[in-house]
Amino acid sequence: MNKQVTQIEHPLIQHKLTLMRQKDTSTAKFRQLLEEISLLLAYEVTRELPMEKVLIETPFASMEAPMLTGKKLVLISIMRAGQGILDGMLKLIPSARVGHIGLYRDPRMLMPVEYYFKVPKDVSEREMLIVDPMIATGNTAIAAVHRLKETRPQSIKFVCLLAAPEGIKSFHQEHPDVPIFTAAIDDKLDEHGYILPGLGDAGDRMFGTQ
Ligand code: URA
Repeated sequence: MNKQVTQIEHPLIQHKLTLMRQKDTSTAKFRQLLEEISLLLAYEVTRELPMEKVLIETPFASMEAPMLTGKKLVLISIMRAGQGILDGMLKLIPSARVGHIGLYRDPRMLMPVEYYFKVPKDVSEREMLIVDPMIATGNTAIAAVHRLKETRPQSIKFVCLLAAPEGIKSFHQEHPDVPIFTAAIDDKLDEHGYILPGLGDAGDRMFGTQ
């Protein structure tokens, strides 16, 4: 597999994803599962964060103990469906900085249109995790990364729940330097740009707006 794509095959993630895919899963349950999976995705994606040794005092002794080093991570949610992943990740990384980018998909052209952009001021020494449940055509992810590269973060990773092969291919044609972390790679896109078999419209399922 492409080295820039990591499929996270942890049994808890896969089990929860199957529950999310099922069409009869309620909005409340869907949201809860997304939050739980996101916490697990955050755990996997942060494996390589830099560490340093610091001198601490336990109740019994001094020791050199490992701690995260460097500036706090910045999480970027692609609105609106990214919010579900963001909420889960913030449970595990509560001190992360947070930004939002609003892009909607023009339903005819399937192209992203930006309507909101708010990102912490200086991200130049921060690792950036961009979150959105789906990479379908890849157009939204591509546009978001182009825009966010303008802020010059130290590095970027893209975290999603489901990706379509077509989307991954387009994404890495534009951004070969940005790794994707996903819970699953599905079969293909339908003619409306939805992922098959997929889980439907992630935003609608999260917010009950169908
Ligand atoms: N966005 C979604 O929410 N679902 C898809 O299948 C594709 C894009």
